[in-house]
Amino acid sequence: MRILVVEDDSVLRDGLSRSLRNAGYAVETADDGRLADQLLSVHSFDLVVLDLGLPGLDGLEVLRRLRRRASAVPVLILTARDNVADRVNGLDVGADDYLVKPFELAELEARVRALVRRAQSAATARINHGALTLDTAARRAFVGEAALD
Ligand code: CA
Repeated sequence: MRILVVEDDSVLRDGLSRSLRNAGYAVETADDGRLADQLLSVHSFDLVVLDLGLPGLDGLEVLRRLRRRASAVPVLILTARDNVADRVNGLDVGADDYLVKPFELAELEARVRALVRRAQSAATARINHGALTLDTAARRAFVGEAALD
């Protein structure tokens, strides 16, 4: 499991990385929106923890570009307590969940686990046997590409 942590506050970034590494994830970090955008366009991650207030490129813009590239990677955004508009925009632009600063690392870890679990169950929703496919999420069956009634 590879996680990208995007946060310009070095104390918070180090704390997040350490706690996620201790929880068994491979963690990469970016302290700037432009770097995050570059990393996300070149590498694949299983989850992104994304601060919205970033130098270089705003976190919302990083998220917008990520979704424009049709990436479905789960994104957990970090926002300031008083900024409801940011949270709403973040979810509208394609974030999967958010945490309001300051937060407990235990809560962040729990939300990360939930997002990873959700992404894995979406990926395993299709069961194949020979030419037969059962999509358990959509509750539909296919033979090859042809849908069954
Ligand atoms: Ca920030």
